[in-house]
Amino acid sequence: MFFKTLTEHFEKLEATTSRLAMMDILVHLFRETPPNLMDKVVYLTLGEVYPPYVGLEIGLADKLVLRAISLATGIQDSRVEQEYKTLGDSGLVAEKLLSTRRKAALFSQPLTVEKVYSTFEKMCRISGEGAQDTKIKLFAGLLTDATPKEAKYLSRIASGRLRLGVAEMTILDALAIAYGGSRELRDIIERAYNITSDIGLIAKALAEGGVDAIKSIRITVGRPIKPQLAERLSSLNEILGKLNGKCIAEYKYDGLRIQAHISDGTVLLFSRRQENITKQFPDIVEVLRKCLKAREAILDGEAVPVDPNTGELLPFQVVAQRRRKYDIDRYAEEIPVTLFLFDILYLDGIDLTVKPYLERKKVLETVIEETDRVKLAQYIISGNIEEIENFFHKAIQDGTEGLICKSILPDSIYEAGKRGWQWIKWKRSYRSEMVDTVDLVAVGAFAGRGKRAGTYGALLMAVYNPEKDRFETICKLGSGFTDEDLARLPEIFKPYLISHKHPRVESNMEADYWFIPAIVAEVIGDEITLSPMHTCGFGIIRPKSGLAIRFPRLIRFREDKRPEDATTTAEIVEMYRMQLKTIEEETSIDTTS
Ligand code: AMP
Repeated sequence: MFFKTLTEHFEKLEATTSRLAMMDILVHLFRETPPNLMDKVVYLTLGEVYPPYVGLEIGLADKLVLRAISLATGIQDSRVEQEYKTLGDSGLVAEKLLSTRRKAALFSQPLTVEKVYSTFEKMCRISGEGAQDTKIKLFAGLLTDATPKEAKYLSRIASGRLRLGVAEMTILDALAIAYGGSRELRDIIERAYNITSDIGLIAKALAEGGVDAIKSIRITVGRPIKPQLAERLSSLNEILGKLNGKCIAEYKYDGLRIQAHISDGTVLLFSRRQENITKQFPDIVEVLRKCLKAREAILDGEAVPVDPNTGELLPFQVVAQRRRKYDIDRYAEEIPVTLFLFDILYLDGIDLTVKPYLERKKVLETVIEETDRVKLAQYIISGNIEEIENFFHKAIQDGTEGLICKSILPDSIYEAGKRGWQWIKWKRSYRSEMVDTVDLVAVGAFAGRGKRAGTYGALLMAVYNPEKDRFETICKLGSGFTDEDLARLPEIFKPYLISHKHPRVESNMEADYWFIPAIVAEVIGDEITLSPMHTCGFGIIRPKSGLAIRFPRLIRFREDKRPEDATTTAEIVEMYRMQLKTIEEETSIDTTS
């Protein structure tokens, strides 16, 4: 398959902001792709070479891409850098300078997807001394054979900035249409993706073996499963109503979600976003190796920092410091963590995700030998409000965030990658003011004035609407930043800066800067109010009105969350309704007396 075919589709994708149009373009591309190349085409469309959990990236810094352009064109470094200063995108530099090349290289052949992919693969795997030079040479080799248009996309992929705006969900939709089009097929494809976290694998299996091949995809130790997520409600009555009157009420630990894959004493750890974080937690690896009374398992839990002297749980921020590249052992000693396990998804060849929660719990309890560092999450099984409330207060006292109430019905399977009503978090009372934080995505920014001149004055924040797969604005966030944070904002957001509103963002406001939705921040505000300016839940409570957060303040950035993990529109609508209800209850006058 010629690489040209792929770049022609990239151009079309880049030119549209409509999700439906994107889907059509992808369907067309997938139909043109030979089945054995489907995985490669999908990875490249996402600007990747491997699924993220593999942890291998090309990662050629812009500067090195420029050197490769210079090598391939014979144009001096200084001129290439000058162009970069003007154009600000190594892709555009490559396109421009390759088109000024007098003639194509003497024996150059049209690039194929196979050739591009295998070169990128090599670039990902090179390490050690001289790696950089070899990478540049390999990349310059590709550019030599490329047309200017191809060079533009090659450079963007190599530098990790392809940004076609294609969401994984759009690819899954397009796959379902390209290969048979039923809603049922879409669900089967999504499930397979959620249990493998490898969209290329799914695409290739579907193209080569059809729906049967997808159905036969199994959970595998070593491939992360997308975690199940929780909904939120603010009254226990409602929670029990949703869960049929009885549930497992479990401590909601405030730490890092960790999925542990263990096979014959080899342990792999994955984050909530399926990054491989094994190296950062050698202490957890060590204890997990010893605590499993079986050969193979996949476990789900939360790693929480503990005070080595008192054994008390410490705040989340402390464990975040363990996500580092250097000084790993020192930090493991200084900030010990305990892993609280709450679920088991796989055991010695058996897929447990299809079993009800109580059954999984029983299995977990029989195969784990608890130590100081690996414990089972605390829970009670109850349908009694008073009993659960008491347990909730105990949970708060023990340094957790509250409870997650989980279904114990026969259909309480592990819903990989889904936020559903099987799990409902109950943090604290919402009262009339907002006491619970929300996770918002930065989609734009406003230029700062006065003291903040030269940096951003405020960020435009959004919630996620999964039904529409878009981000809806909810507030301008300008408080809670330290001076250092503020000064660093333009730098933090530089990789995500784009010249126009992102197609997945819904905004009535004109921001001074627009971002690719990527960075999530935890935010607290005073209350949720109606607002004609913001698009969150527009028209749901009242026509021509959305919802906004009043007086929002930054608590912290949440590097562990993806934009799609942000608080949803439905959750904000629910929080607003709860707020109204509490205000009504508190201000209502008893007229019977
Ligand atoms: P949130 O991040 O507020 O949406 O809450 C869901 C997160 O709570 C999960 O992704 C886990 O990281 C964390 N968590 C802590 N304790 C539990 C538990 N017992 N069951 C499930 N998730 C838990």
